[in-house]
Amino acid sequence: MGLSKSVPADVKRPICDFCSSEPGVFRYPATTFIAEGLSTADYAQQSIGDWAACATCHAMIEGAEMASLTIRSLNFLCQKEPTYEPFREELYQEMFMLFRQFRQHRCGEPTPLRFEAVHPAPRRVRHVQQQLPKTTKRRPLSQRSTPGGGTMRERFTDFCVYTIKHSDDLVQGRSGTFHEKRAWVTGKRLLEEAKRAKQVLPVVFCPAEGTKYLYAWAVLRKIDITEDGTNYTFEKLRLFRNPPPLKTTMKRKSDRKPLHRNFIRPYAICVTPAFLK
Ligand SMILES: [Zn+2]
Repeated sequence: MGLSKSVPADVKRPICDFCSSEPGVFRYPATTFIAEGLSTADYAQQSIGDWAACATCHAMIEGAEMASLTIRSLNFLCQKEPTYEPFREELYQEMFMLFRQFRQHRCGEPTPLRFEAVHPAPRRVRHVQQQLPKTTKRRPLSQRSTPGGGTMRERFTDFCVYTIKHSDDLVQGRSGTFHEKRAWVTGKRLLEEAKRAKQVLPVVFCPAEGTKYLYAWAVLRKIDITEDGTNYTFEKLRLFRNPPPLKTTMKRKSDRKPLHRNFIRPYAICVTPAFLK
């Protein structure tokens, strides 16, 4: 679109809320709605207000090509996050439902996005690629460690602890101690073995309010089993970049099968995923 040529370099252009890959050139007025396919009984995902669409997505919306629009968006998503590839079918259904809801909640004709305006961007929409639990600023994984940069790199154990915690508690860079109601007997043993082998035992977190995606990880330093569960001490919590890996990419230690999408228990021993390394 010619529009993009007139955009001053210092103005941030909103990204397309459908494919998340090209700048939006149209604004679709829409009312806020609960995204049914992405919400659970206790965790509602909202689409807030207007949507931005790039030229390609705009043409597909106008042509009512919702399946093509979904495939386009899904392709970009899987390109950005290859671990989503095995879950295309499921993600397709969710996205298709989301876009269908968008059509139902559209409340006017699209207008060109004017970047020179003081408020150029539509209000941020929580799209399937952006609705992931708490879209606060995440530091890219590439910045989380310093290969060859001063500190000695620690080796991970083959297995890790998987747990859940409300995302409010999972703050980038945090070190501390959390309590969990289960007795982490195997976790404690793995930590002792790790220390003897001069390795580190990672803990991977899902947000307790919605366990579809992984959220963060840290290194376990201490595990104390108490009368009513476990106190575990961790260091240097790191948030996964957006889009984060799905929980189902975690494989159980016992049979190497992926954690089921409906698995909501707060404790599992898993194979340490390659994306931590
Ligand atoms: Zn687009």
